[in-house]
Amino acid sequence: MTGRVEDFFEVRRHAERGSYERSVIDAVLDEAMYCTVGFVDDDRPVVIPTIHVRVGDTVVLHGSPASRMLRILKGGAPCAIAVTLLDGLVLARSVFNHSMNYRSVVLFGTATPIDDPERKLEAMRGFTEKILPGRWGDARVPSEKEFRGTLMLGIPIDAASAKMRSGPPSDEPEDLTLPVWAGVIPLRTVAGAPVPSPDLPPGVEVPDYLRRQFGDG
Ligand SMILES: Cc1cc2nc3c(=O)[nH]c(=O)nc-3n(C[C@H](O)[C@H](O)[C@H](O)COP(=O)(O)OP(=O)(O)OC[C@H]3O[C@@H](n4cnc5c(N)ncnc54)[C@H](O)[C@@H]3O)c2cc1C
Repeated sequence: MTGRVEDFFEVRRHAERGSYERSVIDAVLDEAMYCTVGFVDDDRPVVIPTIHVRVGDTVVLHGSPASRMLRILKGGAPCAIAVTLLDGLVLARSVFNHSMNYRSVVLFGTATPIDDPERKLEAMRGFTEKILPGRWGDARVPSEKEFRGTLMLGIPIDAASAKMRSGPPSDEPEDLTLPVWAGVIPLRTVAGAPVPSPDLPPGVEVPDYLRRQFGDG
């Protein structure tokens, strides 16, 4: 990486919306279901969406050792990771001031393979429980081959920023009396009822932890 990483993660545009608090950064990383990873391959910038999980002070990515993204990151290439939670559509009186409410994190770093079997298993559990709390104790555990065939990379959370926008539109004072509706449309991700797999053997019911969260299907 050229230049100092500190110069990269300081929020300059709307600096008042930025935060470097680990609790704020962690909360966004934990709530976001996936991230987008940026890196350079053969002099070209690439961005790839993928699942992440935070384990303590590390963001972990996982996948096949054949993945180009994981291969390049494993080789020590610097990367940037972004996550975004979309909280609302901000409708201003003026077209110019339309915006979105959000919480986002940008993180810079270099990945290190997680080879220690205990840490790897902990991260695997983290991925499974992130997809749905309760699955680790219900689904089949990974076989030796699956375990060995999963590459896990950890990126330390030490060059990261969060940025947030919340609240109503910021209209110009002279626009406030215009007869144009202004406000916020809140947005959130909503889960539907469980849809059983078509090849599910008869008698396999929706488990309690799913029923409690999503109903019967
Ligand atoms: C849903 C959404 C919609 C947005 N729409 C727009 C838009 O339409 N136009 C627009 O200009 N901007 C938009 N933004 C803000 C955008 O992400 C940038 O913050 C902004 O464009 C300034 O970019 P910059 O490179 O000049 O920032 P700088 O302040 O120069 O960035 C410096 C450093 O601050 C950190 N940083 C910057 N942005 C973020 C962020 N969002 N989250 C966490 N860290 C950050 C990074 O480490 C970055 O390297 C949007 C953000 C979100 C999440």
